Amino acid sequence: MNAAVGLGLPRAHAGTEGLAETDADRSTKLAAIRAGELGSVHSWELVTAVDGPGTRMTVFLSGCPLRCLYCHNPDTMEMRRGHTVSADEILGRLTRYKTVLNATGGGLTVSGGEPLMQAPFTARLLEGARALGLHTALDTSGFLGDRCTDPMLDDLDLVLLDVKSGLPDTYRRATGRELQPTLDFGRRLNDRGVAIWVRFVLVPGLTDSAENVAAVADHIVGFGGAQRVEVLPFHQMGRDKWSELGLRYQLDGVAPPTAESVEAVRETFRARGLTAF
Ligand code: SF4
Repeated sequence: MNAAVGLGLPRAHAGTEGLAETDADRSTKLAAIRAGELGSVHSWELVTAVDGPGTRMTVFLSGCPLRCLYCHNPDTMEMRRGHTVSADEILGRLTRYKTVLNATGGGLTVSGGEPLMQAPFTARLLEGARALGLHTALDTSGFLGDRCTDPMLDDLDLVLLDVKSGLPDTYRRATGRELQPTLDFGRRLNDRGVAIWVRFVLVPGLTDSAENVAAVADHIVGFGGAQRVEVLPFHQMGRDKWSELGLRYQLDGVAPPTAESVEAVRETFRARGLTAF
């Protein structure tokens, strides 16, 4: 999710199941995927002070319904590019790191891609992490928020919600999808008592108009209780991945926003009583 900017970090590749794709195994495997026992995983990494409080294991799932023009990890967009991994394997790793994660107030963040593309698998990871006594977070655009069940919300301490635009037209241009599901999910999170940290990527010429930024701020206020807003300046670190995948990258030549313009956007949020950095 996006994990739009934070995905530029180095990370270890997840282990693979090595399952043979034979006809005999296929239905068993599909049933396991539907049950959330198996998932398509891009990678995982241990991070500190990113993707939530403390030291965390962030697991990046493959597959995303959005097509953000500024995506830094377009290799996470297609589920078929991921490795098939069992929830038990990830939870086993999490168990091994439990002591250090707990000591820092950290835990598990499920990210992507879009983790709600694989909602049953995400649910298993969150439930397992919660059973270990770890802090849990979901990094999502909210576009598939209706796939997040109430029991999943009850296993969540925090949602990192990417609000990619405030104006529906701009959202459509930036992502190829609709804004409204994100707004519905933000309000639902607040009603359910799940903490929200909003992320907004500032892209010159795409998301940085005063009207769009003001609309983002108004929507966040409308959620009712976002703890903070992080303004992430666009950069070009993901550009080469697009051409490696044979995809057309449309933001060539777009410069990162100036420090002043990023700060001005933060001030727009602060003027509405939000904590922004
Ligand atoms: S396309 Fe998907 S993975 Fe890429 S930035 Fe957008 S939401 Fe994130």
